[in-house]
Amino acid sequence: MKSITPDDGGCLDYISSFLAKKGFKNEILTFGEVKNLWSIHKADGPLLIFLGHVDVVPSGPEEKWSHDPFSGFDDGEYIYGRGTGDMKGGIGCFMSALDRLNLEDLNYSLAFLITSDEEGPSKDGTVKVVDELIKRGEKVDYCLIGEPSTIRKVGDNIRVGRRGSVNVELEITGKQGHAAYPEKVDNPIHRISSFLEKITKKVWDEGNDHFPPTSLQVTNINGGVGAHNVTPDNLLIKFNLRYSPQLSFEKIKSEILEFLDSDGINYKVDFDSNAEPYYSKLGIFTEVVKRSIKEQCEFDTTLSCSGGTSDGRFMNKTGAEIVELGPKFESIHKIDEKVEKIELERLTNIYHQILINLNDATKR
Ligand SMILES: [Zn+2]
Repeated sequence: MKSITPDDGGCLDYISSFLAKKGFKNEILTFGEVKNLWSIHKADGPLLIFLGHVDVVPSGPEEKWSHDPFSGFDDGEYIYGRGTGDMKGGIGCFMSALDRLNLEDLNYSLAFLITSDEEGPSKDGTVKVVDELIKRGEKVDYCLIGEPSTIRKVGDNIRVGRRGSVNVELEITGKQGHAAYPEKVDNPIHRISSFLEKITKKVWDEGNDHFPPTSLQVTNINGGVGAHNVTPDNLLIKFNLRYSPQLSFEKIKSEILEFLDSDGINYKVDFDSNAEPYYSKLGIFTEVVKRSIKEQCEFDTTLSCSGGTSDGRFMNKTGAEIVELGPKFESIHKIDEKVEKIELERLTNIYHQILINLNDATKR
């Protein structure tokens, strides 16, 4: 199904009808142009939410793909297609795992929160549904996110947090002039060189056991009028930081402003905190996931907080214990995104084991 963000391409209807047959109570929560599925099977016990998204990023040039990016082409070993890894594969595996269960045996409530606004602005998706759940007084205990997390073998890596992200847009103004008369110009490119050196060499933090150190990447520099003998009037720079909870948006902002002020630069700057970092508490659910992976795969998983952002940051507001576990992330968002069929089978087995083990862990 072609479900380029924020279009769900009919995926939510498909999942809803599957869940309705299982006895789930479905609700479509619409915010702006975005449809979100909230579906719950109630029991007398804690609540586990499976969180996912059906929207995908565009395919890029279709002629570069080995197979139609929206056909779900199966070559016997792999399934190709945009969204197979990120993250319809994870959703499909969780549905198959659920299919093997007798829901009447569960002593916890199980819900699906599936959005179609994760790859886009993420303004009318999980964030709004979470607010609605909080408003309704729904207590969320555990959350499993099917985002791709695997490095080499399914289950080898799970995520219990994500870094935050800040976008910075900076404009430096100077004075345009003839390159032959340096005393008459104020070259913003020269002005910015020491600032760039400082922000790119700075050790923002060392990270911690689960978080890699904060990183900064300059993503765009634009200045100059195109002639060899003219210095520019202004310079535009964009950079992005991925930061751990050791830092905060405010701290990043103040340090950058301090650098700019100490260099005596004429500037305008705009900071956009597009994602807060989150770090889940580690409790019985993390233990259940770790044990289930060990039982199914016979190796120990690693806990990390690497990768881009995820909707876990919104779910974190509920106080739930959150674990992200899904297929390999290697090919996601690329040409020829694909998942290995055996990988999907293994992921289904792990999900199934988690559902069973959580039942044991929550038995009263
Ligand atoms: Zn995703």
